[in-house]
Amino acid sequence: MPSAHITFDQTGDKIAGRIRKMRPSAVRNLFAAAVRPDIISLSGGMPDVSLLPASAVRKATRAAVEDERAVALQYGGTDGRLETRQVVCGLMRDLGVRCKPDEVMLTTGAQSALDLIAKTFIDPGDIILAEGPTYLGALQAFSAYEPDVRCIPFDDEGMRMNLLEAELERIGKDNPRLKFCYVIPNFQNPGGVTMVPERRKRLLELSREYGFLVVEDDPYGRLRYDGGHMIPLKALDSRVIYLGTISKVFAPGLRTGWIVAPRDVLARINLAKQGTDLCGSSFDQIVVEHYFTDTPWEKTLQKFLDVYRERRDAMLGALDEFFPPEATWTHPDGGLFVWVTLPDYVDTGSMLGAALDAGVTYVPGDSFFPDGVTGRNCMRINFSYETPENIIEAVRRLAKVIEERLELYRIFIAAGAIKAPDGAEASEHSPSRANSDGFAPDGQPA
Ligand code: PMP
Repeated sequence: MPSAHITFDQTGDKIAGRIRKMRPSAVRNLFAAAVRPDIISLSGGMPDVSLLPASAVRKATRAAVEDERAVALQYGGTDGRLETRQVVCGLMRDLGVRCKPDEVMLTTGAQSALDLIAKTFIDPGDIILAEGPTYLGALQAFSAYEPDVRCIPFDDEGMRMNLLEAELERIGKDNPRLKFCYVIPNFQNPGGVTMVPERRKRLLELSREYGFLVVEDDPYGRLRYDGGHMIPLKALDSRVIYLGTISKVFAPGLRTGWIVAPRDVLARINLAKQGTDLCGSSFDQIVVEHYFTDTPWEKTLQKFLDVYRERRDAMLGALDEFFPPEATWTHPDGGLFVWVTLPDYVDTGSMLGAALDAGVTYVPGDSFFPDGVTGRNCMRINFSYETPENIIEAVRRLAKVIEERLELYRIFIAAGAIKAPDGAEASEHSPSRANSDGFAPDGQPA
């Protein structure tokens, strides 16, 4: 008699088609490698929580453990604690967004907000627009619901509106399959670029003209090292669905994010959330609430900014010093990431093994595109987690690995074993297709 007990290996044909098609997160896989003591990690997106003052963490946590234990350890409402949502309204006001607590839903990090939005809006085959490259965790969240994600290239002023318009013309006005445009306007992950105000306005105009929602994901908006504050899309149009999180300005381990959206939209997302987790962690929400009301969090944020600015500068300086002339990269004013573009013929996925041997990790660029192919010659590198000295050493190691690859390709090209890519010679300094900001002339990250 066959056993009713099914082991993991035997479940193959039971797995849902949508899960079968999903790709594992390159970043998660790289976590394991990054703990090796000989490896300097440029692959994560982690803030440096060692910068958090112990006194502030203790104070915020004590409130949950001692003062509000009965509530902290209990189930809460699906939308999250009212007091914490009031705190979120205050944080949003600082950014120029006016909202009421009943327009806010607390989520288990912005990541679960992405999943809830996908669950609420996407039927298989629906069209989603996004920057290309875009946040790989969003691609993962969306992919479970089987959409057709169309990537719009960006340049150093954010998503390219002329290319968005061209795509919208192909899709057509009020196409019921077109659901939303997902954007990370500030210090984009992985690109590091910021959408300029004119493009923000244009995106909203197009959303009205063509009939789609705008999902604004803003984990990095407060991590600005140069230049002035940019007005969120949400401040310009109340229909925008805004995602926030404490992960990059406080502690990602507390898994607290939020959605700010019109009440009718939140009511639908609430239905989706009930099936996901009933409610978020009351304990975490109380800690967050006290951190942002009872501790000098703005002073701590300033410390984060000073430290990250120094690390970003260390990375950009090291790239200038060590990277070969064929490489180009973005110059972020904030956030955590630099996007590097290498000549077309370099595959950063297959180069990763050599980088690990050299003691450095990065995230291959194809992870940030839904087709898993585009961006193969690119990589995302992070500057928030390692010390400036380690960052400089990591970039030096990485430059050596890249140089060895390029040398190999030069030999192949000179021998005629592979075709020289557009305009590339087998010379020592073959020009890449990209301009100085890492973008090809057509705006496609090269
Ligand atoms: N959106 C973007 C663009 C991110 O970079 C991240 C995390 N790296 C998230 C959402 C998820 O953040 P959280 O930790 O709040 O889940």
